[in-house]
Amino acid sequence: MAKAEAQEAAANEIISSDPATGREVGRVSVTTPDEVREAVERSRQVFHMWKTTSFAERRRLVMRAREVILDEMEAIAELISAESGKPKGEAIALEIAPVLDLMKWIARSAEKMLRPRRVGIGLFGLLGRSSRVVYHPLGVVAIIPAWNYPFSIPLGEAVMSLMAGNTVVIKPSELTPLTGLKIGEIFKKAGFPKDAVQIVSGAGETGAALVEAAPDKVAFTGSVATGRKIAEVAAKNLTSVVLELGGKDPMIVLADADLEAAANAAVWGAFCNAGQNCASVERLYVHESIAEELTRRIVEKTGKLKLGPGSDPDVSVGPMSSERQIRIVERHVDDFREAGAVILTGGERYDAARERVSDAGTSEGKISASPRQRVSASLFFAPTVITGATNDMRPMQEETFGPTLPICTFATDEEAIALANDTEFGLTASVWTRDIARGRRIAEQIEAGSVCINEHLYTHGIGQTPWGGFKNSGRGRTHGLEGLLELVQPQHIHTNRITLLPDAWWMPYSPTALETFRGFATKFATGSLLKTATLLPQLWKRIKELRRR
Ligand code: NAD
Repeated sequence: MAKAEAQEAAANEIISSDPATGREVGRVSVTTPDEVREAVERSRQVFHMWKTTSFAERRRLVMRAREVILDEMEAIAELISAESGKPKGEAIALEIAPVLDLMKWIARSAEKMLRPRRVGIGLFGLLGRSSRVVYHPLGVVAIIPAWNYPFSIPLGEAVMSLMAGNTVVIKPSELTPLTGLKIGEIFKKAGFPKDAVQIVSGAGETGAALVEAAPDKVAFTGSVATGRKIAEVAAKNLTSVVLELGGKDPMIVLADADLEAAANAAVWGAFCNAGQNCASVERLYVHESIAEELTRRIVEKTGKLKLGPGSDPDVSVGPMSSERQIRIVERHVDDFREAGAVILTGGERYDAARERVSDAGTSEGKISASPRQRVSASLFFAPTVITGATNDMRPMQEETFGPTLPICTFATDEEAIALANDTEFGLTASVWTRDIARGRRIAEQIEAGSVCINEHLYTHGIGQTPWGGFKNSGRGRTHGLEGLLELVQPQHIHTNRITLLPDAWWMPYSPTALETFRGFATKFATGSLLKTATLLPQLWKRIKELRRR
């Protein structure tokens, strides 16, 4: 997307601009494909040293990085806000605080979670055998994030990779390149070994060069289309990938729900970060008996939201990230209108903000050449509540990634589940009810990687829990034990303590061997000690035969 924007700058640089004002935030040199390959090579060299560091040393450095972040929190939040457009408060609440929490948790827990463990091997244990699993780091982890959480997502993935003993190369989004460089700076200030964390800058080509440089793992966050491309290229080197992709997440409000809580959550879940969340509420299904009242409250609360630049502490909704993104929102709203849905509030670019933006731009004469500013003066889109939406309308199937909240009704739990599952996506969902048991029953029938009961969206901020999608929302997991295990390879160490006797399955084979193998299939493989005991005479016969030969 921002490729076009990057081309507005000199060929070898990206201009980062503030989507609220169009003003230039800074410029970053693009890393060439050769330099990307060299970065991966250096990363691999450092890996051989880094993988031998103790967990205590890794923990010390991660905790030091936390301190660097805390020391510079205000400046980091301002940078995130300036590059992404989100309110500064959101940068702190939804990016910095959760990643600090994740850092502390993984620094303290990784050693225990990756401790070698004994595996039960059933009746093989009676033969003097035992098994352990030990975990080895993978090598170089390439992290390619989206722009919407430009700090917490790549930083969190980097810290988990490092704690597991890997080294890291990050290719930040071209819309938020300075936030990416800031992450590199934090690790440097914390005292991590040189090249343990490297940042390469650029758009899709740079990301593609990173995947082609054959890292040992790619952790990608972005669109389904790019995820597919990355998986194809990674397959050439058999590089494994974790794909965190798009969503079209449903919120189901049952008739017995706390309406006030549901209305507040719907407004926040749909409009925070200007709706640019993979787990935004993109479809709200409400029981027909309470639809009118819930909608009334949502519209009323939406009307009170202030739009504006993220630096204003009273602002709840900032600009969208790019002209391309806002056009998708406009197209979806038009589609809804044409299909007969009703736009209750919003539905267009926000003009007041446009005037303010234009004034700021012309008076200071600092508007960059980025199409963020050039194509249209305003990237603000008014939070939009839509009723009468149905699943056969196109924008109910495609990811919008903007501040729209389409509302549909349902009559039964079964209908709500079917509507929620009627999508190619499956990232998160929520169920709102006072009956927790009923909520859980419904949750388990929803095809999504995370389902909340009486909550929405925020569980990416709980680093202890797995994050990832069903269906086209992704492959693999980040966060939690499941996410950590994506960053290591298990090694099975098997020991035989009794070497006096030959194994019955060794060569040469014979009619006695064949009879013994039948016994393995029909008795030993049942796992029953009693049945296996009846195999002992045959087994002994076979072992004697082997010893004679
Ligand atoms: P995108 O796919 O356009 O870009 C994502 C990243 O991939 C960027 O850094 C980009 O430079 C890079 N890239 C582009 N082409 C590439 C290629 N051929 N090879 C390698 N890298 C390439 O996505 P976006 O517009 O930045 O982000 C929005 C999408 O991200 C939405 O679909 C959203 O739902 C998704 N997202 C998902 C999660 C999640 O956790 N599931 C979180 C945040 C965002």
